[in-house]
Order: sequence, then structure tokens, then C-alpha cells
Amino acid sequence: MSAPNSDYDPKRVTPLEPAEVARTVSDALAAFSAAADLEQLKQARLAHTGDRSPLALANREIGALPPQARKEAGQRVGAARREVAEALAARQEELEAERDERVLVEEAVDVTLPWDRAPRGARHPLTTIQERVADVFVAMGWEVAEGPEVEAEWLNFDALNIGPDHPARTMQDTFWVEAGGSGDSGLVLRTHTSPVQARTMLSRKPPIYVICPGRTFRTDELDATHTPVFSQVEGLAVDEGLTMAHLKGTLDHFASSMFGDGITTRLRPSYFPFTEPSAEMDLQCFVCRGASVGDPDNPCRTCGSEGWIEWGGCGMVNPRVLVACGIDPDRYTGFAFGMGLERTLMFRHGIEDMHDMVEGDVRFAAAFGMEI
Ligand SMILES: [Zn+2]
Repeated sequence: MSAPNSDYDPKRVTPLEPAEVARTVSDALAAFSAAADLEQLKQARLAHTGDRSPLALANREIGALPPQARKEAGQRVGAARREVAEALAARQEELEAERDERVLVEEAVDVTLPWDRAPRGARHPLTTIQERVADVFVAMGWEVAEGPEVEAEWLNFDALNIGPDHPARTMQDTFWVEAGGSGDSGLVLRTHTSPVQARTMLSRKPPIYVICPGRTFRTDELDATHTPVFSQVEGLAVDEGLTMAHLKGTLDHFASSMFGDGITTRLRPSYFPFTEPSAEMDLQCFVCRGASVGDPDNPCRTCGSEGWIEWGGCGMVNPRVLVACGIDPDRYTGFAFGMGLERTLMFRHGIEDMHDMVEGDVRFAAAFGMEI
């Protein structure tokens, strides 16, 4: 900035000369219209209207002019700055409109593209039926108990009155994790969920009302009706005065909860080491209601035209099991039952091949819906 000077001739202050001001203005206008986008316009704005732009410098020179010259110079510079500001605003508006237009095109969403790239899965029907069974019993005040899948040989067999010579202990049935030595208990993959019952009886006092759902393991080949990994639900009740009638009533309620009201059941004498007396529980075939028996023209695939379907085993807890688990058999009695969940699911939904249940094809599970 020049110092005040009374005989200062404004015509000689270069930044304020009309031609110079006009050139500054036309430079600015040219720069604005050359700016191709908002970023370039910002640079042009800083260069032509910022604090160090020629017009800002010219404006500062006005203060150094003699008073009589300030008005004319001020008007000239003021007009120039207005013109530049208007041009800048106009270009800014243009470029913003262009940008908005471009964004609309570039960020457009094609609503016709496929959207379901990650289709939802479905819960496995074995999981849902297991929870449904648990609901039935929890509603009656029972509890759900769990135990380890790798189990001590003693709890899996000995505590349940399955002596060392019982066929179930041979290598054909059991996956051994660790062979037992003399006096030492080995480790097995549990062959049933009954050891959870033994654990429950060992850890608490009657009355006991528990169900134990879970995976069990046997050395079966996978085929249409067998699988080496299968699921069971077992129930155990130990209390004073329990009889077979309580067992039958409980199982009837369980059966109608699973297969609908009006299902007919029967108990058929059987043998298990851990119950005495023992029974198999059969359901009257809910497809043919027994009508296929002796009628070769109308065979029933569900029951094999036998009229009854074997559902599971049950019985009164063998007093020897109560003693092994520290419960006084003179005071308490108990009943127990066990059902295969795969088998229950097969009956309930007409599933014919075990492969469907273990192969993990989501289309199989999805057919059961998103039942929770
Ligand atoms: Zn039938």
C-alpha cells in the first residue's frame, strides 16, 4: 500500500487505473467460466476475490488516495467487485446444478436388480422340535437338564445298571474316546442321554422332574433310518409314590402335544437294564388309525400296515439305579422315558429319509418355515 500523499495522482496508481480494473474483472470472469467444477471454482474465487486478489489490493489503495480522488476510485472498484461477485454467484449456481444432476445419474438405484443376494436361512426342525418338547414339559413344572456329550463310561453304563458284560458296551455300539483300565472309568461319546439323569440324581435330592434333550452317538452307518449322531429327549421323575399310572399319563400328554389330541397310545412290555418294569410306548398310527391292518389293498407306509408305531422306551427306574445314584429306593420311586427326536420328527412330518435331516441342505429346513 502506498503512503498518503496530497499530490498523489490516482491515474498513476496502477491497480486503480480503469483499464487495469477492467482487465482484473475480465480475468476473474474468464477464470470463473473456465472452472469446470466446484473445486476449480473455489480456487478461482480465492485467486480473484480473496484477500490477496488484485481487486482486494486495489480496494486497499483507495485509502491512500487524496479525499477528492477516493469517490471515483471507490465507485470504480466497487462496481468491479460487484460484477465479479455476481459472476461468481452465477457460476456457482450453474456448477451446483450440474453436480446435482450428475449425482442423480451416478447414484441412481436400479430397483430392478436382484436384491436377495444373501437369502435368510432357517432353523433346523430338530432344534425347533427339541424346544417344543421342552416347552411341553416346562409348562408342567419340569426342568431342562444338560450334560456333556463326552461322558464317563461309569455314568453312561455302570450307574444305569448296564454291567460290564452288557452287549451295549461292546465296540459295535459305542464310540470310545478313551478305553477304561483296571478300575478306571473310560470315556465314551454318550450312547444315550440317560447319564444326564444319573448326574441329576447324584447332584440333587428328590423330588426330581427333568427332561434331558441332546445329541447322542452310536456306531451306526448313515442310512434312511439310522444315523451315528442322533438326538434324544429323556425324562426322569423321582418322587414319593410315583407309579406306572403317572408315567402313562405323562406320556399320553406328551404324545397329544406332539401329534394332536385324540392320539391313542399303548405300553408294551419290554426290557431295559435301567428300568423295571420296562415298556415300549407305541402310538396308534395317526395316518390309517389301524385301518390298514389286514387290508392288503390299502397299505400304510407310515406304520407298515401294522397299525402301531413304536415311539420310545420307558419304565419305572430300577431301584439299583436309584441306589447307585444315592437315592433311597424304599422311600422314592421314579419313572423314566426316552424318545428319538429324529423319529418323532419323521412321524410328525412324514420325513422318509434320515439323509435329509443330517445333510444340512437349507431347502429342507426352510420347508419347515421360520418357526421359532
Ligand atoms: Zn398306518
